[in-house]
Amino acid sequence: MTNIPEAEAHRLDAADPGYRARFHIPPAEGGRYPEVAYLAGNSLGLQPRATRDELLADLDAWRTLGVEGHLEAERPWLPYHELLTGPAARLVGARPEETVVMNSLTVNLHLLMVSFYRPSGARTRIVVEDTTFPSDSYAVRSQARFHGLDPDDTVVRLRPRPGEENLRTADVLDYLARDGDRVALVLLGGVNYLTGELMDIPAVTAAARAAGAVVGWDLAHAAGNVPLALHDWDVDFAAWCSYKYLNSGPGALGGVFIHSRHLGDRSLPRFEGWWSTDPATRFEMTPVCRPLPTADAWQVSNPPIFAMGPVRTSLELFDSVGMTALRERSVRLTGFLERLLDEVTADRPLTVVTPRDPDRRGCQLSVRIGRGSAADLTKRLRHEHGVIADAREPDIVRFAPVPLYSTYHDCWRVADALAATVAEEG
Ligand SMILES: *Cc1c(COP(=O)(O)O)cnc(C)c1O
Repeated sequence: MTNIPEAEAHRLDAADPGYRARFHIPPAEGGRYPEVAYLAGNSLGLQPRATRDELLADLDAWRTLGVEGHLEAERPWLPYHELLTGPAARLVGARPEETVVMNSLTVNLHLLMVSFYRPSGARTRIVVEDTTFPSDSYAVRSQARFHGLDPDDTVVRLRPRPGEENLRTADVLDYLARDGDRVALVLLGGVNYLTGELMDIPAVTAAARAAGAVVGWDLAHAAGNVPLALHDWDVDFAAWCSYKYLNSGPGALGGVFIHSRHLGDRSLPRFEGWWSTDPATRFEMTPVCRPLPTADAWQVSNPPIFAMGPVRTSLELFDSVGMTALRERSVRLTGFLERLLDEVTADRPLTVVTPRDPDRRGCQLSVRIGRGSAADLTKRLRHEHGVIADAREPDIVRFAPVPLYSTYHDCWRVADALAATVAEEG
C-alpha cells in the first residue's frame, strides 16, 4: 500500500480529466479494475476512437473509386500527405515547408544522413549518446562504413559521468568545445528512450553548430511529449516516429524536419524518386527530377494512404488540444507519479533514474530495479495488477503517464502494484 490514498488520485482526476474518452483503453487481464493502467504510451500509444472510421472511409474510397481515388476521393491520394504537413509542423515548431510525414524513423535517419552526414578531411565523427537506441547506433555505424570509414573510430558515444545516470549538457558542450573540429554530425535523442532525460536541445544545437558540425535530433520520444521549436532552435534536421506518443498505430509513418536554410540547396546529395519532384511535373515522365524547395523533396515513393490516415487523425487531435496544454497536464501527472514512486522506492531496491527536474524530462519515469529481472517484474505488474509498463533488460522498467489519456489513478495503481510486488528491504 502507499500512504497516498486512492481517493486523492480520484479527486485529482475529477479536477484534471485529460482526453481519455477519445481513446480505446484495453481491458485488464488481472487486478481489481476492468481497464489496464496503461503506462506504455512511450512504446506504443493507444488507439484514438476516431481512427477506425477515418481509416474505413479511406478504404471505402478505394472500394468505390479504384484508380480515380487519386484525384476524386474525398481526401485525394495524390496530395494526401499534404494534409499531415501542417499539424506535424505545428507539433515540432517548424514551418510547413520544413516538414513531411513519410517512411519510418530509421529509414528517414538514413535518408537525412545521405544529405547531412558528409565527412571530409579530419571532420568525420558522428556523436551519439552511449544509451542511444540500438537502431540509431546501427544506422550511424553503417553510415560510417558507407563512407569507407571505420565505425569504431568514427562514432563517438558520450557517457554520463561515472556514478551518474544522465548526460550533463555541460559535458556535451565541453566535448564539442574540445573536439568539435573533428565532428561532422551530432545525432542525439531529444528525450532519451531509456532514462527519459530531455536534452537541452537549443544549447547543444547552438554549440554543435558553432563548432562547425551538423546537428540532427532523433525525436522518437520527444514528439508529442514535450514542446519543440525546431525552426527557432536552428536544428539542421530531425526525425521522429508516430507510434509512440503520437498514437498512430504499430509501425506508423514517421516525420522529418529539415531547416529552411537547407531547402532548395542543390549542392546537397539526396536520394530521389518520383515523389521528390514538383507534383506539377510528376506526370510529365521526364528523366530529370525537379524538386520544390521543401521537405517534400526528400520523399521517394508514393505514400501508403491507409498508413497516413491514422497519423492524420492523431495529429488532428494534438492540433486541437495543443502541446502547451498537454505539457502542463503532463508535468502535473508525472509529478504525481514521482511523489508516489518516492514513497515506494524509499525502502525497496528501486531507483528512479530519470532527472528530477521537470524541465529535464518528458512524462516518462524510468526505474532501475536492484534485484530480479525487469521483464519478470513487468509480467507480474501486468498479470497480477493490470498495469502495463515496459521493460528494458536487464534492469530498467519505464512508466509513462501520457497527458492525453493517462490518469492520476493509473499512477496510483503503479505505486500500489509496485508496493505489492517488490518486497521491502532489510
Ligand atoms: C522507437 C525508436 C526507434 C525505432 O525505429 P523505427 O525505424 O521506427 O523502427 C528508433 N530510434 C529511437 C530513439 C526510438 O526511440
